[in-house]
Amino acid sequence: MLKLENITKYYGDFLAVDKLTFEVKEGEIFGLLGVNGAGKTTTFRMIMGLLEPSDGSVTLDGKKIDYSVTDKIGFLTEERSLLTKMTVKEQCLFYGTLKGMSEDKILSRLKELLEKFEISEYYDKKIKELSKGNQQKIQFITAIINEPKLLILDEPFSGLDPFNVELFKSEIVEMAKKGSIIIFSSHRMEHVELFCKKLVVLKNGKPVLEGELSDIKEKYRKKNILVKGDIDLDKIRTLDGVIEIIEKPLEFEIKIDNIEVAENVFKIVSKGKNVTKFDVVEPSLNEIFIAKVGESYEK
Ligand code: ATP
Repeated sequence: MLKLENITKYYGDFLAVDKLTFEVKEGEIFGLLGVNGAGKTTTFRMIMGLLEPSDGSVTLDGKKIDYSVTDKIGFLTEERSLLTKMTVKEQCLFYGTLKGMSEDKILSRLKELLEKFEISEYYDKKIKELSKGNQQKIQFITAIINEPKLLILDEPFSGLDPFNVELFKSEIVEMAKKGSIIIFSSHRMEHVELFCKKLVVLKNGKPVLEGELSDIKEKYRKKNILVKGDIDLDKIRTLDGVIEIIEKPLEFEIKIDNIEVAENVFKIVSKGKNVTKFDVVEPSLNEIFIAKVGESYEK
């Protein structure tokens, strides 16, 4: 288990992370989120043992994280760190050796992963000759070559097309199923929602939202109703608890204060014509974020 207890980081007088506490168990994918400058990179670095916390502790299975556990850790940073003059094979040998793997093990794992990501033909190609998306795949492969127990993924899907996003996603889910502890960070809330049952959202180094995604949504209480048909929007607008109606290209989205309001909306919608849809749905994480943090999560 990864455990952060009250970790705090000051840069001089500036408080970048303020008593952050959470734990992530084997097999869990945990979302560590926040606006730019919220303290995510600082937290990642403290988890990796690259930055000493001013206070508090980080442990993996009860032990402090330092160089002795490098072989158990994988990290995909937002700043890409490929050695572009090297070939794919040389690159992986370099990183794999740093993680204490034998050459045979590195090369067999590399071949398996290149096949999985459908880029076996790049084995002997220089990194700089690869497209941005394929470089991203190599970066991911170097992060997971040692089958890390703890994997930190910062914006892992940037630069990938939807097909390759799916390939990455299934690999991440598979790693979690095999027992890895995964910390996932992204500004793309739709990815976070798919992956992370638990998360923390930081603002100025402090959590503004934390816990199970389902609890966060339940506590938020507000709901959205999706309706297709010719309905009396003006009448719906006058109902207590109706916050806003958004007219989308194919449907209306009626934002309501709580689930009880849905019944009154339904009474009006049922008198409409050609009604083919009435769905009460949870607000998206992005919507909750905007409400809680006061700015959009999307970059
Ligand atoms: P982003 O999403 O933009 O990458 P972040 O959430 O990763 O942001 P951090 O890089 O952890 O944020 O920075 C948190 C705060 O600490 C910011 O206000 C930043 O300016 C400050 N900070 C980061 N590194 C240092 C440093 N070495 N010295 C002083 N202040 C720093």
